[in-house]
Amino acid sequence: MYIERKHCEYCGKMVHGRSDKKFCDDYCRSSFNNERRVVDSKEMRNIINTLKLNRNILESIVAGGIEKVRVPKEKLARLGYNFKYHTQTNTNWKGNSYTYCFDYGFLRLENDWLLVFRVIKDLNFDDED
Ligand SMILES: [Zn+2]
Repeated sequence: MYIERKHCEYCGKMVHGRSDKKFCDDYCRSSFNNERRVVDSKEMRNIINTLKLNRNILESIVAGGIEKVRVPKEKLARLGYNFKYHTQTNTNWKGNSYTYCFDYGFLRLENDWLLVFRVIKDLNFDDED
């Protein structure tokens, strides 16, 4: 009789029994699933941390109470800003592209310049709408 040789996906020991068995026992199954959950939440934490870092970089740009600050995109990159992550984006009918990280954001200007701003409720941009 052919017996498929399989190794437990958690501990690596040989698994005996049904060929669709992936783990030697319930302990290995639950340990495997628990660790995978930790990995998932670690990835989420990394993304959340990146978003917070982005937000804090934007805050540092706007710091000082000024509402909008023009900066070259390269300056954000140098500060460690990760352009892959944001909480929201939108493009208005004029094609102006806004990117947000929580309560901060920026408008893309020409030649890789950005207009960084803090999101204030009811804040109106002159060129919006
Ligand atoms: Zn095992």
